[in-house]
Parts: sequence; C-alpha cells; structure tokens
Amino acid sequence: MSELKHDRRNLAGQPAKIGPHPGQSPVFACARCGACCSHQAIQLNPWEVWRLARRLGLASGQFIARHSDNAGLFLRFGPDGRCGFLTPAGCAVHPDRPLACRLYPLGLETDPEGREVYAVLARHPACQGGASPAPSGAARDAYLASQALEEWLAAQRFYLGLARELEAGLAGLEPRERRRAEIELLGDGRAPGLWQDLDQAAGPGVDDPGEARERHAASLRAWLVGWKAGDRRDDAYF
Ligand code: SF4
Ligand code: SF4
Repeated sequence: MSELKHDRRNLAGQPAKIGPHPGQSPVFACARCGACCSHQAIQLNPWEVWRLARRLGLASGQFIARHSDNAGLFLRFGPDGRCGFLTPAGCAVHPDRPLACRLYPLGLETDPEGREVYAVLARHPACQGGASPAPSGAARDAYLASQALEEWLAAQRFYLGLARELEAGLAGLEPRERRRAEIELLGDGRAPGLWQDLDQAAGPGVDDPGEARERHAASLRAWLVGWKAGDRRDDAYF
C-alpha cells in the first residue's frame, strides 16, 4: 500500500493552513492542497472497489473498467499523473476514499506474522500539513482516530485473511492447474476475476458493506470448492 491523502479544497486558490496552529493538538493536519493526489500508486482491495463503485452509482465491474488499472487492483491516474477523482473542489469520493488515502502520510504493512506495522511515508515537497505523526504513540493514534478508518481497516484485514485462505486452498494444485485457477480468480490483467469484481462474484443487490464482503468471501470459497471438484468455467479458453 503506498501513498495516499485526504480531502483537499484549496486547489481553487484558497490559502492553505500551515500545519497545526499554536495551542492545537500536534496531530498532522492536512491542508487539502491536493499535491499528493498525483503520481501515486494506490492499491485497492475488492471492498474498496465496491465502496467507490457504490458512491458513483456503478456496479463494481463498471468501476473497474472506468476508474482502475490492472483490472481493479489500482486506482487509475490520468495521463497528467493526477488521480481521476481529484477536482478543484477536492476529492470527489472523499467519504469512500481508499485506506491508503486515509492513512497518508502514514503507510501500513502487515508482516508475515500478521503484525500491522505503520511507517512514515516520504512527504510531497509541497505538503503543508505540519509534522508527520510518528509511526507509534499518542500522536499517531490521534491522527488515525481522525480519519474514520475502522471500516477500511476491517476490510483490509478481512481480505488479507481471505487471500491467505485462498492461497492455501490453491497450494496443492499442480502448476498448470493453479495458473488456470488464478486466472479465473484474479483475471488476466485486462479483465478482472472474481476477486476484484465483487458484484459479479457475490451477485447484485448487496448494499450493506459488511454483508457485501461476507457474501463475496462465501462466493469465493464456493468457487474454490467447485474448482477442486472440476467445475471450471474456462475449459474452452484453455
Ligand atoms: S481518491 Fe481522493 S484522496 Fe485519494 S488520491 Fe484520489 S483524489 Fe486524492
Ligand atoms: S500534500 Fe499534504 S497538505 Fe496537501 S493534500 Fe496532501 S497531505 Fe494534505
């Protein structure tokens, strides 16, 4: 998960606040300049795709085609390097912005033992948000609390666990069979697979965010069981 940021409202020329004011909490305060919404690589998990799609009134497959790269794995940035959702008024999808955007200037990685490790990312040279929070401690906790992260962190943990579960389920397949299964699951780089396209996998009509990922997981588990039992949708393709 790489860079990110939040809502930015001074692209139209309003003066930006410079960091925390005297007497304020030393928590990092985004000045909403938009500088860090360009030239980034922002990874998306399937639930983040689904949230963004719902915000725009799209099915997840439509969102993937219009607004993502690598068939739903990354947010699409334009030829000028700017995020497609960056507008003069700020982030057009701010309430549903991805986790990476919520965390910036922090980043989050999960180590092989499942421990979550925060890091301070390199800041855009024009960033006016004040001192970056340390990767641990009270200032970090206060900053994270200000970013409405809970649902996004829960989704990230959910999909990390699901990815490990599916990986373990595919581990016993011989290499050619595994490759076939991975293409059905993850797509071929141009079209998404069942992993990225939550609506296709789980079926339409799911509007509750928690139910969406539970139904998605159930559909992927059922797909894996079916695959191992010989139920393949792509025999003609191979
Ligand atoms: S989604 Fe919003 S916050 Fe994230 S990079 Fe795009 S414009 Fe910036
Ligand atoms: S560069 Fe800094 S101040 Fe500007 S939008 Fe990004 S995080 Fe906020």
